[in-house]
Amino acid sequence: MQEPNGGYRISIRSLLLRPDEKRALDLTIDSETAAGYGLGFAELPHITGSLENRAGVLMLNYHLHCVPALECDRCLSPVEMPVDEDFVHVVVTEAATEQNELEYLLAPDAMLDLAETAMTDLRLAMPTKTLCRPDCKGLCPVCGKNRNDGECSCGEGDITLVFE
Ligand SMILES: [Zn+2]
Ligand SMILES: [Zn+2]
Repeated sequence: MQEPNGGYRISIRSLLLRPDEKRALDLTIDSETAAGYGLGFAELPHITGSLENRAGVLMLNYHLHCVPALECDRCLSPVEMPVDEDFVHVVVTEAATEQNELEYLLAPDAMLDLAETAMTDLRLAMPTKTLCRPDCKGLCPVCGKNRNDGECSCGEGDITLVFE
């Protein structure tokens, strides 16, 4: 059962205690929770996978599907960019060193936050630039017209804008 605000936090205590114990995951992150991470979606993040205790090591394996609703960096038109990625994490309840913190997924108090995990993985998987198409011409800096729809009448060469 998923409950609002915290329904994505699951206890991994029993999984940690029993070797070969496996739990299947199949859940969708609701729009309210997703919005809390500053992203809008045309299709909400869907997680399918498993948590499995392999000889005492807890592995999180999952596939993430979603379609973030983004804006083109140049012309601001809406861009829907489907994401289909697989992620693998070793889940630990405490980090022994700073390095471990980067390599392992931390679940303090044996509570694993699946929404937090998926949204963090998603951010790292997403390209830093969003373009509606590779050769997007962007907006005219003078009149604001979308240059992909055709040239405006502001006059080529009259104004030179230098972006650094
Ligand atoms: Zn564009
Ligand atoms: Zn113009």
